[in-house]
Amino acid sequence: MYDIHQIRADFPILGRTVYGKPLVYLDNGATTQKPRQVVEAITNEYYNTNANVHRGVHFLSQQATELHEASRETVRRFINARSTNEIVFTRGTTESINLLAATFCQSQMQAGDEVIISTMEHHSNIVPWQLQATQRGIVLRVIPMDDRGELLLDEYERLFTPKTKLVSIAHVSNVLGTVNPVKEMIATAHAHGVPVLVDGAQSIPHMPVDVQALDADFYVFSGHKVYGPTGVGVLYGKEDWLDKLPPYQGGGEMIQHVSFEKTTFNELPFKFEAGTPDYIGTTGLAKALDYVSALGMDTIAAYEHELTRYATRRLKEIPGMRIFGESEQKGSVISFLVGNIHHFDLGTLLDRLGIAVRTGHHCAQPLMTRLGIEGTVRASFGLYNTKEEVDALVAGIDRVRKMF
Ligand code: PLP
Repeated sequence: MYDIHQIRADFPILGRTVYGKPLVYLDNGATTQKPRQVVEAITNEYYNTNANVHRGVHFLSQQATELHEASRETVRRFINARSTNEIVFTRGTTESINLLAATFCQSQMQAGDEVIISTMEHHSNIVPWQLQATQRGIVLRVIPMDDRGELLLDEYERLFTPKTKLVSIAHVSNVLGTVNPVKEMIATAHAHGVPVLVDGAQSIPHMPVDVQALDADFYVFSGHKVYGPTGVGVLYGKEDWLDKLPPYQGGGEMIQHVSFEKTTFNELPFKFEAGTPDYIGTTGLAKALDYVSALGMDTIAAYEHELTRYATRRLKEIPGMRIFGESEQKGSVISFLVGNIHHFDLGTLLDRLGIAVRTGHHCAQPLMTRLGIEGTVRASFGLYNTKEEVDALVAGIDRVRKMF
């Protein structure tokens, strides 16, 4: 039973007003709001259990360590990894990809080797590879897409050469909502002996993810997009792969023994976790994953699917509406433009009506170039959004449209 009133009551911010209007929060692709359970777990840890983890013999430190490691187990279970050794805590998707780009390119690639990405990647799955390309002479190859926003899988297959060392693709596009067939794409890459990194920033909050079923070699996501706190995220990697990679940053936690002559490194996953981890953040993240798990990821997916279908139908009733991204498999993101109204103007005027949407290039400028536009308005839904909020969005757009 999906009790939307009960769910909304868990998110105090949804009850506030903006410019005297009830808040309609449709910017979940950027970040999600936090349920009371997450905020209280964080507060509770600061009030009662705060101590630095892993190094202490004292009671509080041990309790904080147990909480932190229990959170790692919660993440493992959530994505069905084989072992907690495969769960590396990071600051978020961006840091996870930078970690992998730096360590993978350093240890597994030479000048001239190739990484395959796609047209619809977020800048955080483009620029880290470009930094490596500049430093190490690595070449980026890009999977094209059709006008519906689906990747061209035949073209993808043709991009593989003996120099291809890695594929790095989004599970769900943050602009088009396209759910890429990552399982199939991973199988293709594996047939060429190439591992795959999946950017799960926009999939983890919206659908069940099983890294073993996908056979993903690496999978990354951010806590704040799945109702958890900011500043914490995850890099999942198959143990065999993580073992082959060198440390990313140096410092405490990641070492076994240090002398001025030689340092040996800690075992997985600590080898990649230099410095004091965000152990309060990991508690919050685990609480958020418990929260969505209790609702059921399949249930959330079905609810959001229905909401997005309804929103798409209602938005299409608006004269001059252009929706970008009409793939067969689509997540709960709708990007659009209306007539000649600039996306920035539309977003600003909707804001005055209490409706929070995102405008601009959504950190996907190469995709904007492919679409031949500068930006869009994006409504992105979360587990607490309602059809009434969709109606408010549609009425708001209509009102703005009539002003122009
Ligand atoms: N990848 C995708 C597909 C995203 O949508 C985002 C954020 O919008 C990111 C990566 C970057 O996430 P973060 O800023 O949390 O590191």
